[in-house]
Amino acid sequence: MIIVMKPATPMAEIEAIRVEIQQRNLVTEICTGQHKVVIGLIGDTSEIDQQQIHNLSPFIEQVIRIKKPFKRASLEFRYGEQSEVVVSTPNGLVTFGQNHPLVIVAGPCSVENEEMIIATAHTVKASGAQFLRGGAYKPRTSPYAFQGHGESALNLLAKAREATGLGIITEVMDAADLDKVAEIADVIQIGARNMQNFSLLKKVGATNKPVLLKRGLSATIEDWLMSAEYILAAGNPNVILCERGIRTFDRQYTRNTLDISAIPVLRSLTHLPIMIDPSHATGISEFVPTMAMAAIAAGTDSLMIEVHPNPAKALSDGPQSLTLERYTEVMRELATLAKFFGRWTEKFAYHSIHDNAAHQILKAKV
Ligand code: PEP
Ligand code: MN
Repeated sequence: MIIVMKPATPMAEIEAIRVEIQQRNLVTEICTGQHKVVIGLIGDTSEIDQQQIHNLSPFIEQVIRIKKPFKRASLEFRYGEQSEVVVSTPNGLVTFGQNHPLVIVAGPCSVENEEMIIATAHTVKASGAQFLRGGAYKPRTSPYAFQGHGESALNLLAKAREATGLGIITEVMDAADLDKVAEIADVIQIGARNMQNFSLLKKVGATNKPVLLKRGLSATIEDWLMSAEYILAAGNPNVILCERGIRTFDRQYTRNTLDISAIPVLRSLTHLPIMIDPSHATGISEFVPTMAMAAIAAGTDSLMIEVHPNPAKALSDGPQSLTLERYTEVMRELATLAKFFGRWTEKFAYHSIHDNAAHQILKAKV
């Protein structure tokens, strides 16, 4: 249930209503939007009479019951206003949200060694990324496949952050590693396979780090939003939803199926920012640019793209990784499209890869 306050309601009045509500064993959450102040009521409101609440104050404009099972994640909870996730990076604040430029997250699937992560970081930055992604702990289908370099990879991500000022996004798989990951990551990734690891969701919800919540392999939109609800309910309001392809019957020509309809559907259901990962969605680098373009056209707030200096030798997800050269070309195309949709800023301007010293170093060594 939410209480929508009339414009210019005095703070003291809002506080008085809040006290009244809390006496009914409900938790309140105040959301100050651009146009309205909304008081969210969390708990069992089934026995609560809407009219009785309305009578609490003449400053109350409306009392609305939220029927969806996800409450804090629902668009109604914010009275239709989209939320923003603002992340502090060494290069400055980056905002994920519908009224902001497209945020680009790029990097290898796994952090393999210092040389490749530093050079990749310089290249993706030069081509307009604000975040470097890279896995230290990898969720692999086979226990015999490369599992990630763990803590030493986290240290390399910290070095890349220092060298480039890019924000870092990396996955936590096990709650036991959460403190270490949270120390280095600017955004903590919950991978598709852990989307319904509820105890892990509660734990990241208790941190103050923004969380990137990937959609589970076979999760419905509602499952996914209920998982976001776990993080929000634990006190962390900074959640970004990442569609990364779902399982369908065809696995011969694509790894997963990118549910592009998730973008407008999420927009109608939730205020949370949206990211699209065309790399895991298709599994094939050739198809990544087209799906990235489709995602921009459909209104994504952010893209996550896997990039590797030498995909043929990648320790994980080589077939879907763009080379640094291809990534740079693709970014030029994406920038044109994002500009068309008013989702680009010259603040993130890219430069020619040939001017990029890091790339020259990489070419010489890899
Ligand atoms: C990844 O980002 O490298 C990854 C493993 O993603 P997902 O959880 O979407 O498979
Ligand atoms: Mn990957």
